[in-house]
Amino acid sequence: MPEYQHHWKDGTPVHLPLGKVVCIGRNYAEHARELNNPVPDEPLLFIKPSTSAVHITRPVKCPQNQRTVHFETELAVLIGRPLTNASASEAEAAILGYGLALDLTLRDLQSKLKEKGQPWERAKGFDGACPLSPFVPAETFTGNRIHFTLDIDGQRQQTGDTGDMLNPIVPLIAHISSQFTLQPGDVVLTGTPKGVGPLNPGQTLSLELEDLLFVETKVV
Ligand code: ZN
Repeated sequence: MPEYQHHWKDGTPVHLPLGKVVCIGRNYAEHARELNNPVPDEPLLFIKPSTSAVHITRPVKCPQNQRTVHFETELAVLIGRPLTNASASEAEAAILGYGLALDLTLRDLQSKLKEKGQPWERAKGFDGACPLSPFVPAETFTGNRIHFTLDIDGQRQQTGDTGDMLNPIVPLIAHISSQFTLQPGDVVLTGTPKGVGPLNPGQTLSLELEDLLFVETKVV
């Protein structure tokens, strides 16, 4: 596995190491419903290891011998300051940039693990399970909602709007920091909107963040 390194949209490296990716499940009510999951009353958190990260523009590899790999398109938040038990204003000040991620999920395996009450790591944390885009500096975003989309082979597949999140970004980051210290270079994935589905070899995935970032990748 080539080592992953954060980059800005202009191609320059972000000189921070990726320690961990903290993710939230079921942060959009319509996505929870499409998988017949209840909407949780507190954030459902899990972690992908740094070894799951890859550059999104590299061809996305479906793991061998696994039936269903689902894509989940998510807004990724790059953390720039250490956060432990952070206030909302500290959490907001720590946001260095925004990008897009695919939270790749072995859905059949995850269902089995859920049935048995076991952790999801094997379904969510495998090598390559977290394709990440370059980041756009946070100060570029001026509105109070952020919009993103996924097209597969030219067809709109997912549309996300941070205004629809059950746990908005800043309180979510503050909450995460009450459970796990966030370090500069860590990434928070903020959940997927509805429209998740299986990856199939040959597909072209096009992801867009506002009109600020456009990335394309192939499934092999
Ligand atoms: Zn997800």
